[in-house]
Amino acid sequence: MPTQYEAVIGLEVHVELKTDSKMFTRAANRYGEPPNTMTDPRVLALPGTLPVMNHQAVEKTVKVGLMFGCQIAEVCKWDRKNYFYPDLPKNYQISQYDKPLCLGGGVEIEMPGSARNIQGAHRVVKLTRIHLEEDVGKSTHIGTESLLDFNRAGLPLIEIVSEPDMSNSDEAFAYLTALRMHMIYADISDCDMEKGQLRCDANVSVRPVGQKQLGVKVEIKNLNSISGVKNGIDYEIKRQIAACERGETIIQETRRWDASKSVTFSMRSKEQAHDYRYFPDPDLMPVRIPEPTKIRLASELPELPWKKQERYQKELSLPYTQTAVLVPDMELCAYFEKAVTAYPKNAKGIGNFVTNDLLRERAAATHEGLLPLSEVKVTPESIAELVKIIDAGTVSSQNAKTVFIEMFQTGKQPAAIIEEKGFKVSTDTGAIEVFIKEAIEKNPDAVAQYKAGKLGAINVVKGYVMKVSKGAASPAVIDELLKKHLG
Ligand code: ADP
Ligand code: MG
Repeated sequence: MPTQYEAVIGLEVHVELKTDSKMFTRAANRYGEPPNTMTDPRVLALPGTLPVMNHQAVEKTVKVGLMFGCQIAEVCKWDRKNYFYPDLPKNYQISQYDKPLCLGGGVEIEMPGSARNIQGAHRVVKLTRIHLEEDVGKSTHIGTESLLDFNRAGLPLIEIVSEPDMSNSDEAFAYLTALRMHMIYADISDCDMEKGQLRCDANVSVRPVGQKQLGVKVEIKNLNSISGVKNGIDYEIKRQIAACERGETIIQETRRWDASKSVTFSMRSKEQAHDYRYFPDPDLMPVRIPEPTKIRLASELPELPWKKQERYQKELSLPYTQTAVLVPDMELCAYFEKAVTAYPKNAKGIGNFVTNDLLRERAAATHEGLLPLSEVKVTPESIAELVKIIDAGTVSSQNAKTVFIEMFQTGKQPAAIIEEKGFKVSTDTGAIEVFIKEAIEKNPDAVAQYKAGKLGAINVVKGYVMKVSKGAASPAVIDELLKKHLG
């Protein structure tokens, strides 16, 4: 039997923190400004300038560590990572080498359920460390010229290093999804990959199934979209397995993902830590994180995604499929919860409108993505009202769908629309009896089948009544009258 191979993946994820100013200077942290306008003498490393640490960035990093159950260092320090590249004016990057802010911990990921209502499977991907550093500038190469923009240089950047604890690209995708969701929840970063606020390098190795020792790893860079991460990892796993099968040995190297050609190609052999001549930055003091600060930062964290999911399932009886739509979208969760507060009796009914009808209409209302929730005319309270009316039996659930669309388009209250459209369910026995008689007359076959014992045939008659009454006949009264007429 040919050798079977398995893949091992570890991710290094960089996240730009959402702060007012840069990591070691007052220059603003803003995206999308004209090139080289967000700089100052410190960013440009003019002679004589000295760094001053950004406390907000340190606090946000501690929050990330707390979310993922890391050990928060009592004392951490700053080190210089020395290398020469034009996007790094100081010729060293201030980073953390042997005393990072956060150690250990793990990120709980969810592998989505495969069929309706199947609960997603959760597991924890172990973390090695999280450290804080400064970002570098951005270089753009055009023909033989290179352009430099230092707006990004010096932004606070965290690096989240996972253990080699994933085994396929779906897990890597789930890991990034969970990371991103937590960062957004805790207001750490917007994690917009297009803006480079979240960047991911993937380390991939393969080994024969059953072998304990890890294979030689290859680091893939330039995976700058979620699909890039998935495709780059898949390509690399296949490439390495094919090489092993040909009897070649994998060399440790850094490869670059080329999304346009869908291949990785070799950039350089892997640099070693000693290449960087790390040493403690003499311009910066070590940082102590006192216990009360940790306690305060923990208390500032919001309810985290998986906790929210659990509460929705256990306390509000929402199905997994609804939580899968709600939980990643904090704003939608707040909207949903407002509606539930207005009508706590049927959270699932409300969830149904929020995760199906509302989402569908928001998608239909614009050509790009979803209509922002802030522009949606339907208030959470009016969705609550609609579900309450359905539960009271005053409108059929079929007609309620039409009512909702009208609510979405006009912002009108459900009761007014129901009135206007004549959707109000009638319990007027006399009026319904006229429809029943007509239905029996017009559907002799179904009636005969029903009488012969095929009970399901009655639905044809019921459907006819619903149709001629435009859904406004009370189902309870219909049942009662059918019993009277057909026995
Ligand atoms: P380096 O010294 O090359 O930076 P590290 O040990 O710091 O390597 O690991 C960097 C990343 O590579 C981590 O995310 C880690 O989980 C991952 N990694 C390490 N060894 C392997 C391996 N054999 N296969 C896949 N990923 C690995
Ligand atoms: Mg490393």
